[in-house]
Amino acid sequence: MSRTPLVAGNWKMHTTTAEAAALAAAVVRGPLPADVEVAVCPPYTALAAVARALDGSAVRLGAQDVFWEPRGPYTGEISPPMLVDLGCRYVIVGHSERRQHFGETDEAVRRKAAAALAHGLVPIVCVGERVDERDAGRTDAVVRRQVEQATAGLPDERVRLLVVAYEPVWAIGTGRTPTGEEAGRVAGVIRDALGAAGEDVRVLYGGSVTPVTVSEFSGRPGIDGVLVGGASLDASAFVSIVRAFSR
Ligand code: PEP
Repeated sequence: MSRTPLVAGNWKMHTTTAEAAALAAAVVRGPLPADVEVAVCPPYTALAAVARALDGSAVRLGAQDVFWEPRGPYTGEISPPMLVDLGCRYVIVGHSERRQHFGETDEAVRRKAAAALAHGLVPIVCVGERVDERDAGRTDAVVRRQVEQATAGLPDERVRLLVVAYEPVWAIGTGRTPTGEEAGRVAGVIRDALGAAGEDVRVLYGGSVTPVTVSEFSGRPGIDGVLVGGASLDASAFVSIVRAFSR
């Protein structure tokens, strides 16, 4: 089956509401190709402003995290129905910065992904090895474990809907990337870990993607797009990354 490429921008803890709206408007101006799905993931505080800026365009709105309960006494948390209410289609789950700085576990990632899917959101589940794990030759085992635990208990028809981003931790924000061949190989490990649903799931690469490095990953069988951090804060760089995935 054919998987529509997806290029998603993770704006992390950047942009005021005015900056976010201006950035989103510049992304919409593109020009964007029709055969690549595009999503931007601003901070929670800018979701409403960005939703307005995206209105009438094909660019999708995403959030950077979500809690698994729909409501309740969870001070500071944001639920799946709240994101749906703001017009979100995607939500990043299990980003390595959340695993590293906020102690997010595989079990938390599993609960978040399942809750997102249950409310009609598409989780972009981030997996990837740290440099010490890579040096110890444990990349495949780590990624396999993260994928299996994130999807444990989910029926195949739900697994098919999600997106997995392979983001080696050592490549995020460092300017270093694996080769396209290596990323494509790990994408294969991810599909294998997803079982029967694997061929339908979009697997992205993420980590130091720029208009220069993107050619290593675009057009690579098994890599269905990219999750972009730093370069997504520059509309023209982001648009050029999107265009690299157009056939
Ligand atoms: C990310 O944080 O998801 C990411 C890929 O960051 P960067 O592109 O800046 O390496």
